[in-house]
Amino acid sequence: MDSLRAARYPFLRGSAEFAEENGGDLHALVDSQSYASARSRGVERVESAIKDHIVSDVSLLQEYDRLMEVLSYPYARMLVSIIGDRFLLKRYALSEASRMNHLLQGDPGSVSAVAQELEVASSLDADGMISMHFTDYLRFSHVMKASEWKLINTDLRNGFVHLGADKFDRLLQNALQERIEKELPLNVPPEFRSALAVDVGRISLLLNETKKQLSPTGGEGMNPDCLPPCIKTILANAQNGMNLPHSARFALVSFLHALGLTYDQIIALFAQSPDFDESKSGYQIRHITGEDRGGEGYIPPECATMKTNGICFDPDATCERVKHPLSYYRIRSGNFRKKDGQ
Ligand code: SF4
Repeated sequence: MDSLRAARYPFLRGSAEFAEENGGDLHALVDSQSYASARSRGVERVESAIKDHIVSDVSLLQEYDRLMEVLSYPYARMLVSIIGDRFLLKRYALSEASRMNHLLQGDPGSVSAVAQELEVASSLDADGMISMHFTDYLRFSHVMKASEWKLINTDLRNGFVHLGADKFDRLLQNALQERIEKELPLNVPPEFRSALAVDVGRISLLLNETKKQLSPTGGEGMNPDCLPPCIKTILANAQNGMNLPHSARFALVSFLHALGLTYDQIIALFAQSPDFDESKSGYQIRHITGEDRGGEGYIPPECATMKTNGICFDPDATCERVKHPLSYYRIRSGNFRKKDGQ
């Protein structure tokens, strides 16, 4: 395979063959001085994913750079696998896929090789558009929420969707993201884990810092004064032993979980209710927070859904500025910090 294509799209089978032909092997990659550049680029791949949501660009002019680029890919995948954090895994998959999309836009000659690798069946129609069976289209477009992606809004003829290169590249991005999410985490052998420990530690620090910044509480715990009126009311009702409808319980637990509260912290709030029953509440909390299946938990409902469910209580002036109770919390916690001069 052409070495530039191998470096740009290191997930291609041909890229691994290119590395092998040039003497690259995993044992040397983790500990040989000759591959230090591949390792530092592997770290950079993951760091730029965390910071920028896209794997950063790098010069690929020299054959040496191209080989290092190909090898940095398995190194980055091992780092992500060892850290084993779902947030990181998803962000890394998205970032590799976004980079591929970005590169394909200036490199149409590689689109068909990438599509073949990702098993996205397609062909060129007489007008130079890309044509896909509608079932393939749906498989890779179902995550796109904008109306332009709905099947009804596509150019659909005899069961085939006809689309331009930009949109097709976007579907390839979804296909690669899905593939990486399925493939990771890898089972990294113990000897590799110890060789990668320093880089793993460095990325874990950055990851924790980033997660703290993303948390609506800035990682500082919940400030009850910043809670939106809906959540304040539901929480008070729960603590007074009122029987909450499912929608209210779901909104409360998913909201608290999104603020970063742990299972124990959430259960402690429910435990103030006079008829508290941990076996019942615990089961629901574990399910909503995703703890029972090792997942990320459910996203709290937005204001429109809260209103439909009749649990938008006593909206105030701040509510007029938000579409989501979490935005309310963010605004109020920003206001409180300013007021306190912090
Ligand atoms: S507008 Fe939104 S944040 Fe405000 S009370 Fe209603 S649901 Fe809660």
